[in-house]
Amino acid sequence: MKKRLLQLALVIFSFGGYAQNETAIKFAGTITKEDLYGHLSILASDALEGRETGKRGQKMAAAYIRSYFQELGLSGPLDGKYFQQFDLESSSPGDTYVMIGSEKKINGETSLYWGKNSSEGEKTLPAVYAGNGSDLDNMDLKGKAVIMSLEGSFQLFRKIKKKADEKGAALVVIVNTENQEKFNERIAGWKNFFMGASLGFSDKEEITSGGVFFISPENAAAILGIKMEEMSKIVKEQEDGDNTAYKKIKAGNITYKTSRNIKTVQTENVLGFLEGTDKKDEIVVVTAHYDHIGIIGGKINNGADDDASGTSSLLEIAEAFVKAKEEGKGPRRSILFMTVTGEEKGLLGSQYYVKNPVFPLENTVVDLNIDMVGRIDPEHEEKSDYVYLVGSDRLSTELHQISEKVNETFTQFDLDYTYNEESHPDRIYYRSDHWNFAKNNIPIIFYFNGVHEDYHKSTDTIDKIEFELLTKRAQLVFHTAWVLANREQRIVADKIQGTKVERK
Ligand SMILES: [Zn+2]
Repeated sequence: MKKRLLQLALVIFSFGGYAQNETAIKFAGTITKEDLYGHLSILASDALEGRETGKRGQKMAAAYIRSYFQELGLSGPLDGKYFQQFDLESSSPGDTYVMIGSEKKINGETSLYWGKNSSEGEKTLPAVYAGNGSDLDNMDLKGKAVIMSLEGSFQLFRKIKKKADEKGAALVVIVNTENQEKFNERIAGWKNFFMGASLGFSDKEEITSGGVFFISPENAAAILGIKMEEMSKIVKEQEDGDNTAYKKIKAGNITYKTSRNIKTVQTENVLGFLEGTDKKDEIVVVTAHYDHIGIIGGKINNGADDDASGTSSLLEIAEAFVKAKEEGKGPRRSILFMTVTGEEKGLLGSQYYVKNPVFPLENTVVDLNIDMVGRIDPEHEEKSDYVYLVGSDRLSTELHQISEKVNETFTQFDLDYTYNEESHPDRIYYRSDHWNFAKNNIPIIFYFNGVHEDYHKSTDTIDKIEFELLTKRAQLVFHTAWVLANREQRIVADKIQGTKVERK
């Protein structure tokens, strides 16, 4: 009995035998470091300006990928088109200020505003001083601006803002420096972060919170009509245990304005489709994001590893499958090669795809997602024949077994599951495009080289890419896709919890 089970296991895991393996090896061999270099040197060149979503460089990258898909002979699955185009909303701070006397303290110059609210013109609110905020629970904040003296981290500010919002405060004002001079330094340091545009879908929830103004203690004192020293005295008394010391200061008024500049930004996922043979309604998806973070502070972020490495790998894997098909060895299932946009802005392209899938999600067998596969992280400097896998065992036992067996047979990497631990603080399973598939109960594998010192910096450049290693990692993804596309049975997602998606 035991022996028979073992034989059965061997049959299951032989992938259809030696000849099949030889065929797969042959086409994996068309994935070369020279070709990968060719793609990557274009995608990560300065000319593409860091491929920021909605910007010129992203459009150029999209055009390059589309023309390569066309050249290969992949079809455009959107009525012949390769672009899945959609609109995003770019939102940046507009005319925003606090009045101190007759003077406007303008956001980014003499005040800082943190929030997305629009006050619809100038507004005047009653303002209360809450000292260090330790008695917020017992204060009446409804419709008021609450001014607090509070130094600390954004985590703390977020917490206090949440509490004030819950109490119905219309605006939060935080004093987090000792004096005007220190506040001016703070503005210089935080300005870029506060003044930047954010990108997202326009159907987001309505913004009810008034947001947070950071102002200098001098200006806060002016609003409350008191001396600066009186504010410090209150905080000191609170620290010494008198929580309600703030009651000594009577309310003033605050006049302010917040507004946003909203622009529509068009962007696109780029899709290339290879039709399968006898199981063509079932879709294997390979993804990589081709956007990056653009130009910051005048420096181009080439994103050679993040994720020109994954995008180049995807293009080479597509070529390998096309060549196989040309020689009559095309995959049984169909393969969708999708380079996605908007990843760096919050997995937007993949989110759009799963909400507007070109092929039914029920027929989508797996997503193999590649993001950062061209480098060696500090943990593997000694033994660099590795790749991190995330998610392979989360939804499908079979997928994990196949992935392991493929590696054992073809690439012999040290498969590192460190980031797959549910308890890992980096939460990588939720942080790249595969997550949008996984949350729809589609099994996924995420391929990743780990983080390094050039992550999201202008120093993530092509000269640091390990092309031999990149080639082998792309081959691992190819072999895995090959098995998943060609095996008789579709892999089963046996580990789905909660609501089950009906699978045929
Ligand atoms: Zn990335």
